[in-house]
Amino acid sequence: MSESEARPTNFIRQIIDADLASGKHTSVHTRFPPEPNGYLHIGHAKSICLNFGIAQDYQGQCNLRFDDTNPEKEDIEYVESIKNDVNWLGFEWSGEICYSSNYFDKLYGFAIELINKGLAYVDELSPEQMREYRGTLTEAGKHSPYRDRSVEENLELFEKMKNGEVEEGKMCLRAKIDMSSPFMVMRDPVIYRVRFATHHQTGDKWCIYPMYDFTHCISDALEGITHSICTLEFMDNRRLYDWVLDNITIDCQPRQYEFSRLNLEYTVMSKRKLNQLVTENLVNGWDDPRMPTISGLRRRGFTPASIREFCKRIGVTKQDNTIEMSSLESCIRDDLNENAPRAMAVLDPVKVVIENFDGDAEMLDVANHPNKPEMGSRQVPFTRELYIECEDFREEANKKYKRLVLGKEVRLRGAYVIKAERIEKDEDGNITTIFCTYDNETLGKNPADGRKVKGVIHWVSAEQGVPAEIRLYDRLFTVPNPGAADDFVSVINPESLTVMNGVVEPSLVNAEAEKAFQFERMGYFCADSKDSSKEKLVFNRTVGLRDTWAKIGD
Ligand code: ATP
Ligand code: MG
Repeated sequence: MSESEARPTNFIRQIIDADLASGKHTSVHTRFPPEPNGYLHIGHAKSICLNFGIAQDYQGQCNLRFDDTNPEKEDIEYVESIKNDVNWLGFEWSGEICYSSNYFDKLYGFAIELINKGLAYVDELSPEQMREYRGTLTEAGKHSPYRDRSVEENLELFEKMKNGEVEEGKMCLRAKIDMSSPFMVMRDPVIYRVRFATHHQTGDKWCIYPMYDFTHCISDALEGITHSICTLEFMDNRRLYDWVLDNITIDCQPRQYEFSRLNLEYTVMSKRKLNQLVTENLVNGWDDPRMPTISGLRRRGFTPASIREFCKRIGVTKQDNTIEMSSLESCIRDDLNENAPRAMAVLDPVKVVIENFDGDAEMLDVANHPNKPEMGSRQVPFTRELYIECEDFREEANKKYKRLVLGKEVRLRGAYVIKAERIEKDEDGNITTIFCTYDNETLGKNPADGRKVKGVIHWVSAEQGVPAEIRLYDRLFTVPNPGAADDFVSVINPESLTVMNGVVEPSLVNAEAEKAFQFERMGYFCADSKDSSKEKLVFNRTVGLRDTWAKIGD
């Protein structure tokens, strides 16, 4: 990571500074704890940059820990994708990858400890009854009739649960805390349940699985985490986090701190909803370039640096807010404007014939970046037949239209000034060919007689250009907060993908997947990592050249 990525500050870093200054801690150890039940999204990137970024800046450690206590929803495919995405973002976890499931034996032991202390009991209320007994925010809960079982009986029943002698949903282990607590999470939360499911790490060894709140704090303590950073919805759970650690024999007391999660306009961030988009084929997989997933953004052409920059710009606070899509886009635009080589591609081609040009292609040397000579140049063939963008030609136009007009001149980027002499149309009135002449004295200089040619348009040789499928993306949803819609699927933007059959300059045949180019005047594009090949080029538009979002009124 470059030095220019200056160190951010936020309330969590201030807490860490204070803890180091007071000697409460001598080093910092954080963790990023995804549940492997989906692919990571841009919200996770915020948490990753925060946790791994802190470890980097304080010479501390950050663990990657899979919070894997829900075997039915989890999968090894997600484990692999998460590792990949964290690395791609530019971060390395400390030591081995951790799994909460590594601690199942220890967690079981702590559950026994709570039972022995009279702080946990096996309950047999049905899930419905349990809900009813729990009470409401304004009304205290009721004690389960099973709450006062003896320690011996609890141990015996918990053992049966563990041995597979109890059906799912018939019994569970609950912490005995306070059924009248104003914090619902403290009303005797379930800490173990029966699930006859094969786990991606532990196979069929277990048929009881610990709940998140019981597992998370203990995993943190076992790993020696100093600052356990999570999102605001876990604020109340902090009571339970501390209660568990206060009541078991463990010699580490991590502290939990909460920050507000990232919400982005015009997209959803819930893994359940993203999963639904994938399984119902509403998008083409988790890495569809329209998805807010790390793998989708990557495939679309976002760079790791642009995502880290975004996370830095949005900052870390406790205020809930929703970020505009334009702020994510300006990060990638800033990066690519600096770093993406230029190239030419025509997305919606119309043919131009240069009638006074004969013979072989002339190879023109064109700079790869207007202000970065160190990025070199490439050879672009200029030939008798070319393509330009349909929208770059008009039979008639006023002075504001600085492109090609019948009877007028325009400059072809990196090449000559041409003049449109006449056109040919098909029977439906569509222009099929624009016949032009070129001024062969205008390569890299203005016409000698002082004629002013204002417009510059891009072009590709028709003879040597290469056909390419070009995918243009729009926002995936039509409303700023699709998550709030009754049915988020109903607000999917039917025009979120437009496929163009374009032509690109020959040098792009060798474009590496995910490596961005600025297609002159059209935006930033990269070859698709899944579908593009030398035989059939496919490019994704990462982002346009200018912010078009801000102008769209709703
Ligand atoms: P979901 O509720 O959709 O399943 P999650 O938050 O439970 O998502 P996890 O895999 O548990 O997903 O998240 C791993 C870490 O990433 C957690 O610490 C979580 O707080 C953080 N995280 C998840 N979503 C966001 C977000 N939108 N902004 C910031 N951090 C997030
Ligand atoms: Mg979670």
